[in-house]
Amino acid sequence: MGKLEQKPERIDCRGKNLHRKTLSDDLAKNLTARTGKRGGTAKFGVELAKQLTKKPKKVETIKFANGLKLKIAKGKDLVPPKKHPEKWEYYDPNNSGNPLLAIDEKDLDKQISKHFKVRDYARIDAKDLQYVKAGTYWTVKSGNNVEYYHKYARIDPRLVALIENIRSDAGVPMIVNEGFRSYLENKRMYDNRNEKPAYGSRHVSGQALDFENTNNKILKSALYLMRNDGGIGLYPGKNAVHFDCRRSKRRWTKGQWDKNKEWPRERWLSKNDVQEVKDRIAGKKRKRKKK
Ligand SMILES: [Zn+2]
Repeated sequence: MGKLEQKPERIDCRGKNLHRKTLSDDLAKNLTARTGKRGGTAKFGVELAKQLTKKPKKVETIKFANGLKLKIAKGKDLVPPKKHPEKWEYYDPNNSGNPLLAIDEKDLDKQISKHFKVRDYARIDAKDLQYVKAGTYWTVKSGNNVEYYHKYARIDPRLVALIENIRSDAGVPMIVNEGFRSYLENKRMYDNRNEKPAYGSRHVSGQALDFENTNNKILKSALYLMRNDGGIGLYPGKNAVHFDCRRSKRRWTKGQWDKNKEWPRERWLSKNDVQEVKDRIAGKKRKRKKK
């Protein structure tokens, strides 16, 4: 279209736009080439009219690094309202720019990166199901277990890359406990707990995953890869860990910020483990300086 639009307007003596005629002629030629049929018949004219009125398709999917495409959610209650966005079920207080995605039940088993599936990013912890809006989750039977997954979720491609990097670097399985939470689900959850509320949780923006298993290999890889940014939250007693891809750097243990933003409490890692990570970071820096 670009070339055609750049030409000055040319209208013939009957007021017909000659450019449109040119476009139509091109399409007629293409149609003849594809079908072998010549112009002049009514059928040909109908087919040509269809081609001329075709609208270009809008981008309605998000593509992840491995080629996976997920649909952007459409429809009532699934797009941001113009007034009072903070009252919207899926409000994003962090303005992450990650659109709300519609996750089909058959999407859940698709790989989103080498070691993780879409289900890992949409997973709801069964005990938090009470806070999830009715009708907005999938119920999936897996052996004797029943699992729950969000039908609509935000998934930050940067989080997908971060989690895959930690998993690949650590070389051990990581079991997801919970991924995305809607804004109001997260709010209902905190309102019901006697905890400091985190209404701006990164889970709401599709930027955080909680894992129900952690060990020194996972933590060492995370501390190395997230040395400059991202959030790491530790939950002692549960052996659980939270990783998020925020652009600032945050460290906490069960709701308490770690002021030095450096290392988890010693009970999570031995002095040797901490030193190993520090050496790895220092080694990288030294190599860079040599160049
Ligand atoms: Zn978390």
